[in-house]
Amino acid sequence: MSRKVIIAGNWKMNKTASEGVELVNALKPLVADVCPDCCDVVVCPPFTTLSAVVEAARGSNIKVGAQNVHWAENGAFTGEISAAMLKESGVEYVIIGHSERRQYFGETDMTVNQRLKAALAAGLKPIVCVGELLADREGGNTEKVLATQLEGGLAGLSKDEMAQVVIAYEPVWAIGTGKTATPDVAELTHNFIRGTVRDMFGDVIADGLRIQYGGSMKAGNAAELVAQANIDGGLIGGAALKADSFSELIHNALKK
Ligand code: PEP
Repeated sequence: MSRKVIIAGNWKMNKTASEGVELVNALKPLVADVCPDCCDVVVCPPFTTLSAVVEAARGSNIKVGAQNVHWAENGAFTGEISAAMLKESGVEYVIIGHSERRQYFGETDMTVNQRLKAALAAGLKPIVCVGELLADREGGNTEKVLATQLEGGLAGLSKDEMAQVVIAYEPVWAIGTGKTATPDVAELTHNFIRGTVRDMFGDVIADGLRIQYGGSMKAGNAAELVAQANIDGGLIGGAALKADSFSELIHNALKK
């Protein structure tokens, strides 16, 4: 089954509004030839940069995502941002459960699940991150950890809701470290993730599910990774912060 590739840049806590606009303006002509039916190109700036980037990307084939969302509709949650706020500012995607949020901000599978439901209710397209620590992989616990994250994070979703979800498999030991899972290891793990989603939601949802790889993906390894049967794109950190490296990565990934 052929699934549309999705390459998303996670800018993390980088780029002010003016820097973000500069990056998107540089990226637009470089990815103008990317066929919108073959690939979703997404950039995920920090909250304060979102509106300016939505404006800068208007009319181009670049879509915009946020990096987090709160689960409540509104209320006394100082510093948080709701799904409706994101939706109204023109955001289409939202990253949920990134390993940095799990590691530094107490994100759990339960809060991932709450955020996911709020995002879906507002009509956002969630990118749900899962991934094992180095100790999990070395201890032979990768599948157990991923199954727990998937079962907890995706609990209670209907098939229609799950059809909107993208999963990002990001081995924590590969994020920002320069270490990448080999295409074979990544493919085996993606296959396991698809199998788990199959057990939970059935064949149609599992076969249509887009699973991104994330963890030191760059122009040099994107083609080989995205060529794997179960790898449908990438969630990119460092290599998404410059227009030329992000564009080169996207074009290489599409050579699969
Ligand atoms: C990420 O943070 O989601 C990520 C994959 O980062 P990097 O590409 O820098 O490893």
